[in-house]
Amino acid sequence: MTENKSIEIICPACGQDTILKRTPRYDGFKRSGDDLNCASCGHSFACESKVPFKVKKKNITFDPSELEAKPEVFKKGEAARLCRLCANYVVNPFIQRCALLRKEVEATDTCRHFKKQKQPPKPS
Ligand SMILES: [Zn+2]
Repeated sequence: MTENKSIEIICPACGQDTILKRTPRYDGFKRSGDDLNCASCGHSFACESKVPFKVKKKNITFDPSELEAKPEVFKKGEAARLCRLCANYVVNPFIQRCALLRKEVEATDTCRHFKKQKQPPKPS
C-alpha cells in the first residue's frame, strides 16, 4: 500500500455508500491524472477536491480529554488524613505499617490518629 487515501465515498449522484474508482488517465504516454468515478453509478468527479469522501470516524474508545482529567478520588480534607502522609507511616519493601498502632496499613487508609508528616528535606 503506497497510497493511504480513503476511497470510501457517499456518492451525491446515486446516494450510495460506495467506493471511488480511480482510473489512470494518460495524456499520450504521460500520466496526467486519474479519472474519478463512482463505483456504483459511474458518476464522474471533476477533481479530487470534489469527491465526497466519507469522513472516517475517530476512535471513540480513546478520548484524549480523559487523560488530562485526573480522577478526584479523595475529597479535600480527607486526603490530608491519609496514612501515606502520616508521620507514623512506615514503608519497607514488604509492608506498609503504622508505627503508632503497630499494624499493617494501606497508603490510602485514613486514620483518626493521623499526625502530619514533616516535609521531607529537599535534596540539595
Ligand atoms: Zn454514484
